[in-house]
This record gives sequence, structure tokens and C-alpha cells, in this order.
Amino acid sequence: MSDHETVPAEVDHEEEIPEDHPRYQDLLTRHRIEAGVEKGITHLQGMHAEGRGSAFDYLLGEETIPSAAAAERAAAARLLLADKPVLSINGNVAALVPGEMVELADAVDADLEVNLFNRTPERIDAIVEHLAEHGAADVKGIEADARIPNLDHKRAKVDADGIYAADVVVVPLEDGDRAEALEAMGKTEIVIDLNPLSRSPQVAEIPIVDNIIRAVPNMTEHARDLEGEGESTLRAIVEEFDRDEALEAAEERIRSGRL
Ligand code: ATP
Repeated sequence: MSDHETVPAEVDHEEEIPEDHPRYQDLLTRHRIEAGVEKGITHLQGMHAEGRGSAFDYLLGEETIPSAAAAERAAAARLLLADKPVLSINGNVAALVPGEMVELADAVDADLEVNLFNRTPERIDAIVEHLAEHGAADVKGIEADARIPNLDHKRAKVDADGIYAADVVVVPLEDGDRAEALEAMGKTEIVIDLNPLSRSPQVAEIPIVDNIIRAVPNMTEHARDLEGEGESTLRAIVEEFDRDEALEAAEERIRSGRL
């Protein structure tokens, strides 16, 4: 950590993190995950995922690289074209961007569904309550009356009228097995993941290699900007986006520092 500005070791409220600190976003992210664990929203494993993400973000320059910006715009267009879009929420997503996910759902008329790797009724309830505190009116994932084929029982649970029936699913920070199983079901996946080599972005139609705390507000902004555009304009934006090129650009940035 830079000595530019010191941050107390124990931060009770995120307002205590100085906004002009050079690692502000990283400190904020870490604080939200810790608070998520304390609130029973985020599993301890989510802290490890956060650590991995933080390292990749550092190498990406902690900024939205141009290929990620293009992916975010394509994702917004794809969501506006969808018949039944669903945004999947896990413990890290709920801790990091609850209000931002509610806003994105509103902008593209999507449902929110809680979908946990380590599923317990207590965590589901805590996340649903947390999302409600951030403005969510209706959250799916409680009933969990359908199963994703080819996944073990606990991790396969989804709502029949949610992810199971969706045509487009946004799966941020998703585990590779489930991303592959959703792909096998024929879902169009929009994955947000800071590691371009992870299996989830590899199977996504639109992989977004960016920190979720930047990616989601960017997608919402694009969706608002594209609202009212005709189907052909939206389709052209989606078709113009090259997923392989975007994954390569992110890897190049991480390995060489070049854009
Ligand atoms: P695989 O997808 O191959 O199973 P993995 O085991 O690394 O890979 P998980 O731990 O299940 O994946 O998921 C965590 C992923 O989320 C990691 O790739 C990590 O880089 C990414 N990640 C963590 N924090 C963030 C964040 N704030 N924004 C975007 N991605 C993040």
C-alpha cells in the first residue's frame, strides 16, 4: 500500500476510506466483501475469489480497458434484445454491487435471481433482504423449483420461471462448472470476470473482463443510452463485438501491460 494516504486497519464504514487514495477501488471492494462476510451474505470462499480478482485488476491497471468497454456496450444491447433476461446474484455480487444490480435490472427489464454456490436458507434470506434494502422489489431464487442438468444437486437449483426459463443470463464471478452447464442448456451468457483465462468467460457469448464495480454501472449507462434504438442497431452492436478478440486483448494487457 502506498503511504500517500494512510487508511486505518479496521474500517467500519466505507466512507472512512479516502476517495483520493490511489488504491481506493481495491480498498472499497475488500471492505465490502468483509462486510458481506460479517452480514452472512458472502461465504468465506468469496474472500479468496476477491483476492484473485484484485490481483487481475491490478494487472489490468484497475481501469475499464477498451475491449471491456466494447463488451459492456454489446452486453447492454444483448440484454435489451432478450425476451427473458435474468441477472444472477451470488454472495460476492450482493456484497459489491447490490444497488447497481437493481438499477441494471430496471434499465433492461430483467429479473434478479439469487444463485449460490454454497446455498443455505440463511444466506438466501440475508441476500434477498440486502437486495430489498437496495431497492429490489422482487427477487427470484427462493423457490428453486428447477434444476440445471449435469450439475450436482445443490449447485443446480434455480427457479423454473427464472434462470431455467431465461434466454440471456448475466453471470458475474461465476464458477466454471455452472457456466459450462448453463452454456450446455443453450443460454446466452454474459460473464463478468477479471480473469480472461477462467472457464466462465471462455464459454460466454459476451465475456466482460472488468471489475464488477465498474462493469455494472457502465452496462446500465449503455442500456440507458441505447434505449429506444431499433432492433437492427442493437443487433449490429452485438454482432460487431468479437469475443475472442476481447479475451485476447485482456490477456495481452495482463501479460504485457500493453493495450
Ligand atoms: P473457474 O471459472 O475456471 O472455475 P475460478 O475457480 O478462479 O475459475 P471462481 O473462484 O469460482 O473461479 O470465481 C471467481 C472469479 O471471479 C475469479 O476468476 C476472479 O478473478 C473473479 N473476480 C473476483 N472478484 C471480481 C470482481 N470484483 N470483479 C470481476 N471479477 C472478479
